[in-house]
Amino acid sequence: MHVVLLGPPGAGKGTQAQRIRERFGVRHVSTGSMFRDAARRNDELGQTVKPYLESGGLVPDELVIRVVLARLGEPDCADGWMLDGFPRTVPQAEALDEALAAGGESLDKVLLIAVDDAEIVGRLSGRRVCAACGESFHVEFVPPKVEGVCDGCGGRLEQRVDDRPEAIERRLEKYHRDTAPLIPYYDRRGVLVRVEGTSRTPDEVSEQVREAMQP
Ligand code: AMP
Repeated sequence: MHVVLLGPPGAGKGTQAQRIRERFGVRHVSTGSMFRDAARRNDELGQTVKPYLESGGLVPDELVIRVVLARLGEPDCADGWMLDGFPRTVPQAEALDEALAAGGESLDKVLLIAVDDAEIVGRLSGRRVCAACGESFHVEFVPPKVEGVCDGCGGRLEQRVDDRPEAIERRLEKYHRDTAPLIPYYDRRGVLVRVEGTSRTPDEVSEQVREAMQP
């Protein structure tokens, strides 16, 4: 299975990816998580991507493409994968198509989780993420049982630097300019399925995703 999750930042791609992984056992590859891990390790990749992560800008295509194609070539991705946060530009989508075509493969599905900008701002500004396990909470909509503490593992909840107001605005701008053109790109190829995420709970979105994943 080769699936791409598309949608604005804060649409719930990570949450749905986790559920799809549990249901179908497919490998979840999140470029945002890979870059945040590298930034935490402070290795060469981490030092290069850190300024982009902090400002909400996009990491240059050439670097992202190299990192992702290397990751998809690893043995645990041989039976399929679900990409979350990649591709984010048309050149990235073209590079992915080319790499798949070279192996005689193609994308099975692109799931678009559509959410209005106004709702995105509210979701991202209240989002808190567990520093230990990555689980997401929201100060108002999905509050943890104990403030600042992860329900699952007891880790500390923190706000992502790019979930601060200036960065949110920048990310939404980038989404509309660079990523939204992927909607017609994949629609033309007949692989796009749109799921409504505005004013929907994660369970309601999951239900639509389950239907959309039917062959
Ligand atoms: P995310 O967790 O998907 O919102 O990604 C967090 C940040 O990582 C983004 O704001 C970008 O700076 C960077 N990033 C993740 N995926 C990509 C990508 N496909 N292309 C460029 N930058 C990316």
